Parts: sequence; C-alpha cells; structure tokens
Amino acid sequence: MQPSQDRSQPRSQEGSRERTRERSSDNAVNDRSRPGRSPVVRAESGAPEGRQEPLPGPIARAEGFEGLGLGEPLLRAVADKGYTHPSPIQSQCIPAVISGRDVMAAAQTGTGKTAGFTLPMLERLRHGPRARNNVVRSLVLTPTRELAAQVAESVRAYGRYLDLRSEVVFGGVKINPQMMRLRGGADVLVATPGRLMDLQQQRAIRLDRVEILVLDEADRMLDMGFIRDIRKILALLPEKRQNLLFSATFSPEIRKLTAGLLHQPLQLQASPENQAAPTVEHLMHPCDMATKGDLLSHLIRSNDWQQVLVFSRTKHGANRLADRLEKEGLKAAAIHGNKSQGARTRALAGFKSGEVQVLVATDIAARGIDIHQLPHVVNLDLPNVAEDYVHRIGRTGRAGHAGHAVSLVAAEEHELLRAIERLIGHPLPREVVPGFEPRILSAPPLDLSGGRNRPPRQGGGGGGGGRNRNAAGSRSGGGGGGSARSGPPNGLPRRRTAG
Ligand code: AMP
Repeated sequence: MQPSQDRSQPRSQEGSRERTRERSSDNAVNDRSRPGRSPVVRAESGAPEGRQEPLPGPIARAEGFEGLGLGEPLLRAVADKGYTHPSPIQSQCIPAVISGRDVMAAAQTGTGKTAGFTLPMLERLRHGPRARNNVVRSLVLTPTRELAAQVAESVRAYGRYLDLRSEVVFGGVKINPQMMRLRGGADVLVATPGRLMDLQQQRAIRLDRVEILVLDEADRMLDMGFIRDIRKILALLPEKRQNLLFSATFSPEIRKLTAGLLHQPLQLQASPENQAAPTVEHLMHPCDMATKGDLLSHLIRSNDWQQVLVFSRTKHGANRLADRLEKEGLKAAAIHGNKSQGARTRALAGFKSGEVQVLVATDIAARGIDIHQLPHVVNLDLPNVAEDYVHRIGRTGRAGHAGHAVSLVAAEEHELLRAIERLIGHPLPREVVPGFEPRILSAPPLDLSGGRNRPPRQGGGGGGGGRNRNAAGSRSGGGGGGSARSGPPNGLPRRRTAG
C-alpha cells in the first residue's frame, strides 16, 4: 500500500492482476516462530451469549495463512514478512473480520493482533470502491503516536500489493501537511484521537462513510483520558459499520464502552489476562532508591547488555538517567511525552538499529515499541499499576524468544511489588547484587497520587498523559509517583501529549 502520492496502478488493471494471482501464492518462506504467548485462544460468540466457537486447533494453524479467506496480494505480503503460520489470534480473527463480524479481543502487543485486524480489514477494503474527497473508509484509533506509526507501518507492509491509500495522523507535528494528504481521502486512516478530532473540526476528513472502526489498545486510550474524544468520534461515524476492539484487559470501563458499540461480537482472548510470556526470566534486585542509577550502570556493564529498555516512572527521571548514562559513556536516549515527535522517532530508530544501547522510557511512550527479540527490560522504578508490569515485560520474551526482565526494588516500593506478585501469581526471584545491598529495609510507600498529596513544584511531570489523564484519579501509568504532578496549577486537565 502506498501513500496517496504514489498510487501504483490503475484500479481496473490492479483488480485483474489480483484476481489472476488469486490462490497461486506460495508461502514457503523462512521459518520464523509465530507470536502469541499462549497456544490457546478462547473464543466466545456474542450471540447467543457465551456460546463457544470451535477452538483454533492445530489443523487450522498447520494450513498456514491459506484458508483464512485472504486474497493473493495479502498472502504474498504476509509471505514477504516471513510469517509461515498465523498466530492463535490471527487464525480466529481473520476469518471473523472477513465475514463482517464485530470482534472484541483481549490481546496484548506480541500476540500478532496488528496483523490480526489489518489483514482482514485490507481484504474487505480491497473489494470496495476506493476513498475519495476526504472520505475515510476505515479508521484505526491508537492511544500513542508510536503505536499509530507502528500500525501504519504494518498497514503499508501488508497492503503493499494493493491499490489502497493509507495515512497516519498524530499530534506533536504540523497539522497542515496532514490536511493536505487527507484531501484525497484514505482507505485506511490510523490516528490518535486528539489529532483526529482536530482534523475533523477543521473539516479535513469525513467520517460519515467509515466502514470499519478499530480501537487498538482501548484500555490505554481510556487510561489516557481519551474517552470524551472517542465518544465524539463515535457520534460522527455511520451507524452501520464493522467494529473491532482490542484491549489488554477488560475493565468495567471498557465493558461500558463496548456495550453500545459492538454488535454481537466474537469475543477472543489471545493469552490469559495478566500473564507474562513463559519465556521471560524475571529477577528482582533489592536496593535503595539512591543507588538505583549506579546499580543499573553496573548491571549493564558487568553483563555487557547491548540493548536494554529501561522503564522510569517519570519523564524527569527518564531524562536524568539518560543524561547520566551518556556522561558515563553509554549511548542512551530518553523517550516520553515531553519529547518532540522528532526526538522520539529518532530515539526509537536509534534503539532499533543498535546505535542507542539504552532506551529509557515512561510507560505511555513505551506503548507500541515493538522490537524483535529485545533481550533485556529493566524496571528502574516499579510501575504504579501492577498490570503495567506485564505490559512492560511484554517487550521481551516475544515470539518464543528468551527474555530477561529485571526490577530494581527499593523499600518504598514493597507494596507495589506485592501487588505485582499477586497479579502474576508468583514471587519475583530475589538476588542481592554485592555492593548494592539495601540499607533501608522498610519505608513508607511512594506517593502515587500524581502529586495531589504533595506541595507543588516538584519538577518533572507525569509520563505522557492524555486529555484529562490523572484528573479522574485513575491509573497513572508512566506518570504519578516520584515527581509527577497531576495538572497545571489552574486545576484544568493537562493538555494531552500523546495525541
Ligand atoms: P503485534 O502483537 O501485532 O504487536 O505483533 C508482534 C510481532 O509479531 C510483530 O513484530 C509482528 O511483525 C510479528 N508477527 C505478527 N504475526 C506474525 C506471524 N504470524 N508470524 C511471525 N511473526 C508475526
């Protein structure tokens, strides 16, 4: 799939080309393991309630991608990517979406969910009339810029043999070029909610012809305070459309949102909720708050870690750590909501290419970071919300590869640690690093109120929140704790930084 400027072929010609290639695909490609933490996908039909659909048995997967209903141009693109077998979520989702059903899937990054919705969406779109005049035919909403860019990249890769137009829009960059690009419409538009609303208000897009809506990482969009934008967007869409919703967890808020949104959805669960990949080795090093930086650089050097993703609770902490590591001669970069989009993209590209050895991220900014075989994830600070531990370490141990998740835990974080251990169902193995034995063995817990319980002016800030984020007192992801503040002094919700 090409962006609008370079549509490759006249439509009629492309159509006949697609048809003649139909069913002639050869998927014999390099043998790469498929993603999907659990070999089991549970499926439930929305109608009648609770009815069980057949489980994806080994036969469905042994067939590879053929037989799922994808046409030749998509099978060829999948083969180009090197995928030989659909992941469990893909083998369930693809036929359901092609058949026009609504889908609601509990699926985290790493399960292959992006291809799970993109491939069948493109399959449906390629049979309809192309977008024109600001019309959007399918809309994928994501919580963060990084995820939007990544989904758009997948759409381009899977749609490379199709004559469909895809665009991606997010905040933090100029709106005018986006408005220009959208003039001709988009068969697929990937967007963060805030920028999409801005574009809509400026009449740069028409949403009344949307055929397919995808809410990706819906739980995170709600956490980031995008619910009002989402509701406004929903009101602009035609009533008759297909809806696909992906979420790591199904909180009561998500269920409330889905109630009026989805029509008899097929319900899928790609991996048991809140379970980490079995290939991840967890380890926790007790230490003091004050020695965490030293301990981290000691671990990186003594173990010769070449590619480490480090999670910091606050933006300020992320900056401080990256600066400090740089001064020590390690190639490090920070990525969070206060960084410009250019800086975030550069840091991520550098990390992916191996040029940046240590990437320090807040939870929100790290959403959508997808790096094959990321070997080490370090929690410099434990996350405020236990589920985020699973999201964080979901960056390693992907697609069956071994991963290594290390947490540096001070006495102030013992409550957070207990919550994480309760959630994942086992204690984290403890290992004291000689020279970094904790001196403080018990301490009051951290203030995770996002700053509301503390005097103002602590510097730093939260972890890249969205509209109204923290104002509702909900999960605070990469913000909160430490030096986070919940909003500007006038008490208005903080302006989003992600979309
Ligand atoms: P996602 O869960 O969509 O973020 O995908 C996780 C990673 O798995 C991405 O890097 C995909 O490129 C990769 N992937 C998706 N589907 C497959 C597949 N069937 N076989 C191998 N890798 C895949």
